[in-house]
Amino acid sequence: MATMVGRALKPAVAHRVIEDLNPPERILMGPGPSNVHRRVLQAMTKPLLHHLDPDFIHIMDEVAEMLQQVFGATGGFTLPVSGTGSAGMEAGLANLLEPGDQLVVISHGFFGDRLAEIALRHGATVTQVRGTWGEIIPLEDVEQELKRHRKVKVLAVAHAETSTGVLQPLEELAKLAHKYDALFLVDAVASLGGVPVEVESVGIDLCFSATQKCLGAPPGLAPIHLNDRALVAIQTRKEPPRSWYLDLGLLHKYWEGGTRAYHHTAPISMIYALREALRLILEEGLERRYARHRCNGLAMRAGLEALGLKLLVQEEYCTYQLTSVQVPYSVDDGQVRTRLLNEYNIQISGGLGHLQGKVWRIGLMGESCTSENVLLLLSALEELLPKEGFGIPAGYGVAAASQVLAEAYSS
Ligand SMILES: *Cc1c(COP(=O)(O)O)cnc(C)c1O
Repeated sequence: MATMVGRALKPAVAHRVIEDLNPPERILMGPGPSNVHRRVLQAMTKPLLHHLDPDFIHIMDEVAEMLQQVFGATGGFTLPVSGTGSAGMEAGLANLLEPGDQLVVISHGFFGDRLAEIALRHGATVTQVRGTWGEIIPLEDVEQELKRHRKVKVLAVAHAETSTGVLQPLEELAKLAHKYDALFLVDAVASLGGVPVEVESVGIDLCFSATQKCLGAPPGLAPIHLNDRALVAIQTRKEPPRSWYLDLGLLHKYWEGGTRAYHHTAPISMIYALREALRLILEEGLERRYARHRCNGLAMRAGLEALGLKLLVQEEYCTYQLTSVQVPYSVDDGQVRTRLLNEYNIQISGGLGHLQGKVWRIGLMGESCTSENVLLLLSALEELLPKEGFGIPAGYGVAAASQVLAEAYSS
């Protein structure tokens, strides 16, 4: 009997013992996630609160207030949507567009295409203004498209197109959108916190971002700002948005005003993380933070060029926090990235869409944006590329970058 019981209790499959969690401390130099400050990680270990606890509501207000400053807004409505940058994209499009509404979207990269795809799924009529990946879109092309339709509801663009590293200027696009009575929607997922976005002075009606790029928190929240114009558009919809979870009208009732109506359980620990990341941003100061991204980005560009590598985007249109550089013909894209990870602990990314295998995307975002990281990656490439079949003059990359950094710090 005893042996039978023993046999019955014995599990059919021996389970592995899962060890303690011990991920390596990588240097994250792709287009996100970027490294986070220790203070942000520590904030996530603070005690949980209920999502309607008065103390938590106070924290929500602080987060919204700091987000407004980073967005460059004084009015409107600001909140972090639960979910990553793509949730911000979906929230923005699903709330502004109703089935049959016309969207004009600027498509000169992977994320412009994603905006179009999401809007289509929400029933919008979508027209894409296509342009060359790696270049900005000429205003005439956009105006031509706006003119062609009886009524365009929304003009949408990715500010920093992370698939290429182009920074699309926004001021003139905002004016164009408003000239044709369209709402202006901006994907600032890769730009907010790294380069100025300034929703109010630029005239952006709806803008969203993500926590894991230049804002310096883990992935999981998509900060979003709407001005009064966008709020009115949402409040006067004929039918509710097709997404219940991302219904900004319902979220408005939880995040603002007296009702604080439960919608969904806020990801408490992520809100703590964002609060600390925003405190760090405001402690540093927005101008200093933008200057840091600019100066390190320029140093990276100079270093890569000095190694004989070709940049995808010319300086005039480049965004400093993300640099795309062409993979030399003689070199295996994946092999170099794997060796960078295994031998140098550095993560960079490959290309998206038709640039897959053709470019490396190097990020200098938030906490990852340091002059040490610029020099570290360049010296790693100086060692690695000759071993991988691309002969380069050793020392030139680091020297060129150091010179840019020295000039920036002496001025
Ligand atoms: C990263 C990125 C997204 C998508 O964000 P996820 O957090 O991956 O969902 C959208 N737009 C741009 C411009 C991005 O860089």
